[in-house]
Amino acid sequence: MPYIIANRLHLVYYYTMKKDYSLMLKKVGLKITPARQHILEAFSADCKPVNAEYIHERLKGKDINLVTIYRTFTSLEKVGILKRVDLRKGSVYYELADHHHHHVVCTECGKTESFEVCDVDKISQGVLRKSPLFETIDQHSLELYGMCKSCSKV
Ligand SMILES: [Zn+2]
Ligand SMILES: [Zn+2]
Ligand SMILES: [Zn+2]
Repeated sequence: MPYIIANRLHLVYYYTMKKDYSLMLKKVGLKITPARQHILEAFSADCKPVNAEYIHERLKGKDINLVTIYRTFTSLEKVGILKRVDLRKGSVYYELADHHHHHVVCTECGKTESFEVCDVDKISQGVLRKSPLFETIDQHSLELYGMCKSCSKV
């Protein structure tokens, strides 16, 4: 039962998010362009960190080139709609910054798993208490790296 409720809530959340892209852009003061909307839709459909090439492939036939995609990534990151994720691969990966979570990344095949347990705020408080330079810490990024079960078998 709790599982079904969680799932349903997730769906409600998903559809609300989907409809709200123009509002989301408006809120942060960015112009609503078809490219921005298409790119955001492509992100929400996948719910995992992706790179520009991947989005480009997904939006095939929409006449949105790679340069536009890179530029859109940068501006959406600046306003906090997208978050950069370091997968230690050649290119830069991004995902929607709609809920706080972190990733475990396989250093062999790049498979990722996300987790929402986060104690970093506690660590930040400890760091702040000892820091001679910093007054506040209000953001963090954290990915864990290892080897997935199937890569470990080889
Ligand atoms: Zn993620
Ligand atoms: Zn792997
Ligand atoms: Zn965290």
